[in-house]
Amino acid sequence: MMTVHTDDMRTDDLRTDDMRYEALKDRKGAVGLNFILAVLSTGIFCRPGCPARRPLRKNCVFYETAALALKAGYRPCKRCHPLGGQRAALESLMQEIYANPEADWSAKALEEKGLAPTTLRRQFKAHTGFGLGAFIRWVRLGQAAQSLTQGETVIMAQLDAGFDSPSGFRAAFGDMFGQAPARIKFDEQNPLCVAWHETPMGRMVSIADETALYMLEFTNRVKMLAQVKRLHRLHNRPILVGRTVISEHIEDELKRYFKGELKQFETPLVLTGTDFQKQTWAQLCAIPYGETRSYAQLAMAVGNEKAVRAVASSNAKNGLALIVPCHRVIAKDGSLGGYAGGVERKSALLSLETNNL
Ligand SMILES: [Zn+2]
Repeated sequence: MMTVHTDDMRTDDLRTDDMRYEALKDRKGAVGLNFILAVLSTGIFCRPGCPARRPLRKNCVFYETAALALKAGYRPCKRCHPLGGQRAALESLMQEIYANPEADWSAKALEEKGLAPTTLRRQFKAHTGFGLGAFIRWVRLGQAAQSLTQGETVIMAQLDAGFDSPSGFRAAFGDMFGQAPARIKFDEQNPLCVAWHETPMGRMVSIADETALYMLEFTNRVKMLAQVKRLHRLHNRPILVGRTVISEHIEDELKRYFKGELKQFETPLVLTGTDFQKQTWAQLCAIPYGETRSYAQLAMAVGNEKAVRAVASSNAKNGLALIVPCHRVIAKDGSLGGYAGGVERKSALLSLETNNL
């Protein structure tokens, strides 16, 4: 629990540029923070933990990703290499946890592996969408749910998952799956799979089975634990790390979309929400590539011009970034309004589309 809360607060702490600038003061603490600092006076962009001197506030511009800073015309810093990736390292760590979730993954154990726990936790969250602790707990409980489905006893599943107390196990299990350990019966033939995708606007994460896509989000914005819990409750199926035909399909479509070649996603979708949300999403999908609508126009299209706020809220909750194109909804006065994936990204997506009309 602790890790999740800490990570979430961390994200909220960096909502505004002033908060981001403030976070740069503590250089060691800034290593691995999830944004890019560009410097107007030098035209260079850096990781937050760059050893170079902290620029004046008025010279700082902040971006969600290195790709966006690059696109805006800044050059990468030669000291902190903001384009270089930690991805391979994180991927192998993820595999290691997956193979051995009950091992000791405490800060102390990570330090003994030569890793810096605080930095690692931030990077892990930014690249996967999961807090490190949340990921480990999710993997442990998922494996417990699978062995229970296969007929394992609750006490054995509890011990295998690394829980000393039955009540602690029951509580964590109930929180993850919405049901008691003794009752779980996964549809094992139909797992959902989590996969990651690189895009020029940052890494994305998808959840798919062999026939449809259930979720697609930017990793640095998504609350993965909430997403997997939601899907566990709705579908009662194992959720694993892996790729399906649909993961490959969406990856291919993303590549073509970011090249400006694809105007209409065709990956089959499963959208889960209230009737009103589904109506809103259907209207969103009807906004053509490269065009925008206001929240008020969208509310009108849904048949209730007073429902602007409800429409905006459904808009943000669709769980399928880019495909249900909520980035095409802007404020009435023509300004960008909000975006779950970050306003800089929204602006970049809209330029990508208008440039390829
Ligand atoms: Zn630098």
